[in-house]
Amino acid sequence: MSKVLHSFLTESMAELRSQGLYNEIDTVETANGPIIKVNGQEQEQINFSSNNYLGLATDQRLKAAAVEAIRNWGVGAGAVRTINGTLKVHTQLEERLAAFKGTEAAISYQSGFKCNMAAISAVMDKNDAILSDELNHASIIDGCRLSRADIIRFKHSDMDDLRKQAKAAKGSGRYRKIMVITDGVFSMDGDIAKLPEIAEIAEDYELITYVDDAHGTGVLGNGAGTVKHFGLQDKVDFQIGTLSKAIGVAGGYVAGKKSLVDWLKLRSRPFLFSTAIPPADAAAATKAIELLMESRELYVRLWERANYLKDGLQQLGFQMGNSETPITPCMIGDETMTQTFSRRLFEEGVYAKAIVFPTVPKGAGRVRNMPTAAHTKEMLDQALAVYEKVGKEMAII
Ligand SMILES: *Cc1c(COP(=O)(O)O)cnc(C)c1O
Repeated sequence: MSKVLHSFLTESMAELRSQGLYNEIDTVETANGPIIKVNGQEQEQINFSSNNYLGLATDQRLKAAAVEAIRNWGVGAGAVRTINGTLKVHTQLEERLAAFKGTEAAISYQSGFKCNMAAISAVMDKNDAILSDELNHASIIDGCRLSRADIIRFKHSDMDDLRKQAKAAKGSGRYRKIMVITDGVFSMDGDIAKLPEIAEIAEDYELITYVDDAHGTGVLGNGAGTVKHFGLQDKVDFQIGTLSKAIGVAGGYVAGKKSLVDWLKLRSRPFLFSTAIPPADAAAATKAIELLMESRELYVRLWERANYLKDGLQQLGFQMGNSETPITPCMIGDETMTQTFSRRLFEEGVYAKAIVFPTVPKGAGRVRNMPTAAHTKEMLDQALAVYEKVGKEMAII
């Protein structure tokens, strides 16, 4: 290894360790369902750390669709979409996505992260400005940077601040286009973006609207997401999503007007220069969307289980912050205390991760629980008993 690289790595790693930011990654040794085993340990863990909201990652119907697709189509798409990697399974997926989202068209990408790399810079450039919520996801931040537009952050879900900044940007006369970008659901607190107000401000100042609904799809609006939840399908230009969270597979998509999707097919670089998702993923994701459109069963169960866990934790005396969705943070505060709490839960068989600075502000440490439709009441009762034990032991409740 070159000396320069070696000293860079050793020094940077030591710095991270000294700041308590060095993260050891656990290996999960079972399928990623409601009960998992990690790091070769015998003890089972109740899993509150996945984004597998509806339990679809291990659903038999999705597995069958994937296996059948492998038989018919093989394991790889074979090329980028524009050369000859657009298989019928991809166009079927996109037709179902458009119907699901209530838009004219949709385009699929290899991940939610890639969607943001693709879609923002296909439309925005250095003559433009982007108004971005300060808590937006890392992939939105990177996507904005890639576009070379001016990035104007507004305070989290602060509509007065957004209006003020939109007015200033519009009034400056410096920008050809201005876009507002927000997460649909914010993943650390579980709060929902104020889309009706955002849409209103967008109308007043002629903003392009962009919602990344990675944590809203499958979870709000009878499954169709945050935009549907507010009935704003006609007011939001870009509906971005991932196929890796509630949908249970992998991939991402942009849903919107046909002209927008046509443009993305001509100009978005991850579409043009990176191979499409494997046929099995496309088929499994299509199956998931069909299931969600046919029945509210999993959606209803997710909310039932989430409310059960939230009520239980609240009764024990834990603080949940301002979550409006199944995302269930347990506020602890101090960073070390939060980490100890999470480790004690783990020792007792509950897998819930500590989330601390710099992911959230200093002193706002929390253990984040992600209940799913696949958790049974018994699992939740067992987890609540552990929370009570550890909470009392550490004098948090
Ligand atoms: C998880 C997430 C992504 C990334 O999705 P992947 O499909 O896992 O790449 C993008 N945006 C937001 C808001 C997310 O929460």
